[in-house]
Amino acid sequence: MAKNIWVFCEQRDGQLQSVALELIGVARELAEKTGEKVCAALLGHKITDKAAELVAYGADEVHVVDDACLEKFVTEQYAQAVTALAKKYEPSVILFGATSIGRDLAPRLSARLKTGLTADCTKLEMDEEGNLFMTRPAFGGNLFATIICPDHRPQMSTVRPGVMKKLERDDARQGEVVVESIEFDTAKFAVKVVDEVRSIQCAVNIEEAKLLVACGRGLKDVKPAYTVAEKLGGSVASSRALVDAGIMDHCSQVGQTGKTVRPEAYLAFGISGAIQHLAGMEESEYIVAVNTDKNAPIFKVANLGIVSDAAAVMKNIEKLL
Ligand SMILES: Cc1cc2nc3c(=O)[nH]c(=O)nc-3n(C[C@H](O)[C@H](O)[C@H](O)COP(=O)(O)OP(=O)(O)OC[C@H]3O[C@@H](n4cnc5c(N)ncnc54)[C@H](O)[C@@H]3O)c2cc1C
Repeated sequence: MAKNIWVFCEQRDGQLQSVALELIGVARELAEKTGEKVCAALLGHKITDKAAELVAYGADEVHVVDDACLEKFVTEQYAQAVTALAKKYEPSVILFGATSIGRDLAPRLSARLKTGLTADCTKLEMDEEGNLFMTRPAFGGNLFATIICPDHRPQMSTVRPGVMKKLERDDARQGEVVVESIEFDTAKFAVKVVDEVRSIQCAVNIEEAKLLVACGRGLKDVKPAYTVAEKLGGSVASSRALVDAGIMDHCSQVGQTGKTVRPEAYLAFGISGAIQHLAGMEESEYIVAVNTDKNAPIFKVANLGIVSDAAAVMKNIEKLL
């Protein structure tokens, strides 16, 4: 019988990604409803020492697959390993981050395990019978759809980074680490990573930033935003309008089709506050919005609203720093 809530714990270059810890946090809430365990799947090479961190953030069991073929993410290798774990342990639920890795891996797994997958969830709830209610934005973010998977197990979902909250780290928390050995079908390894080239613009992950200076179409020149962000110890983010215009890179886009962020401070310059943008930033702790239109929807979520020219306010901040 299918049991326990599993989380695919993403790591890159041996570093656990924040979304993995966030998913363990929500998995704990779900598991408490049914009295099941939270199990983490940790895949990679020379990553076994990261298992303790997953326990500290709430995992009861960490299943580690440490193999040289998993050093860099390649879909087939990872899909084989997670499929083998899923067949061995028959989880009730498997959660993935809605990252480039999770969005690639989860559909392949759902096909191999002949079950459903709800992508890009923003809310997860569980009933006592173990049915998972997976909520995600639909129709351009204008409504939310709650989806269930009553006839198949595991119930699978990808969850956007930054939406769920991780638990406080507790190094006294106890858990079991199980080292797994997988028999890979290497004949199916058709893709090999030869080189990795990183985009300089995307070197900073806006999901991790404590402060974001976010630029919208109302800000004519984005260059001062970089100076202000640097002086304030933050990063630069963007609305989709500037990404579509080719001014900003997609990795800086906040919103429904971009990233979900939850910084301590979100400074929005010349952003209207369309529902698709708000979906990615409204959980920020403190929001400052600068817009010439006093009726701009961004002001509805702002803690501090400034009705003024974005470039002029930016210039004044730059002078003060
Ligand atoms: C399916 C779908 C998914 C989407 N996903 C996203 C997403 O992930 N992220 C996202 O951002 N958008 C997304 N969008 C687009 C979204 O609907 C908006 O079009 C977009 O957010 C608008 O960006 P903006 O606020 O920068 O531009 P605009 O809507 O053009 O707003 C510019 C704002 O600047 C103000 N302004 C003008 N001049 C000045 C000035 N001098 N000083 C100060 N303020 C000024 C204006 O009053 C206005 O409020 C999506 C849309 C769809 C349909």
